[in-house]
Amino acid sequence: MPRLYTPVGGLLGKKLSEFKPSSQPFERGLVQIFTGDGKGKTTAALGTVLRAAGQGLRVFIVFFMKGDYPYGEFATLPTLPNVTVAKYGLTSFCNPHKVKQEEKEQAKLALDAAREAVMSGKYDLVVMDEVNVATSWNLIEVEDVVKLVEEKPQKVELIFTGRYAPDKLVELADLVTEVRKVKHPFDKGIKARKGIEY
Ligand code: ATP
Ligand code: MG
Repeated sequence: MPRLYTPVGGLLGKKLSEFKPSSQPFERGLVQIFTGDGKGKTTAALGTVLRAAGQGLRVFIVFFMKGDYPYGEFATLPTLPNVTVAKYGLTSFCNPHKVKQEEKEQAKLALDAAREAVMSGKYDLVVMDEVNVATSWNLIEVEDVVKLVEEKPQKVELIFTGRYAPDKLVELADLVTEVRKVKHPFDKGIKARKGIEY
């Protein structure tokens, strides 16, 4: 019988409570961007959050433009150690050709929350989900995001997600991954599925 795996450990059993906050995560925090028209931008950021929390990094994640859509991660993220979550946006979808004043106000609150977290010294990693879209649709000024990057404490790592990452943000980022759609089930009429798309 071929051996299919090497039985070195068995089930992963370390309790989350055994992870200690890291005092010296990294010297220089970088700026990462996940953009493009394929699926996987938010989930890439969430994968990084999962890894970071496991190493005791303190994480703040702010969702721009997310409204009350019942994403599964809203239930799981708060259960991770050292992960704080904030969420802004209306319940309705944003129309880039008819941006509402309230949508701008929500995006401004999201940016303020991110800024406060970045500057507080309480977090090693700050994720701004959909900030690329919020800037490219002019809900917030790209200059304000640039300013946040320029003024951030050196040790804080940032992750920006969303389609249409503005050139100015791409220029100043250290890591840019463009997720390109080859296929998406949506194209053949398969609707968003609980647990996979949301
Ligand atoms: P995910 O959250 O699954 O990582 P994403 O962050 O890359 O996706 P968004 O641009 O935030 O995708 O899109 C929001 C929703 O639209 C997600 O539920 C995602 O699965 C879906 N989606 C992503 N790409 C496409 C696409 N090319 N066509 C249709 N729907 C898509
Ligand atoms: Mg997303």
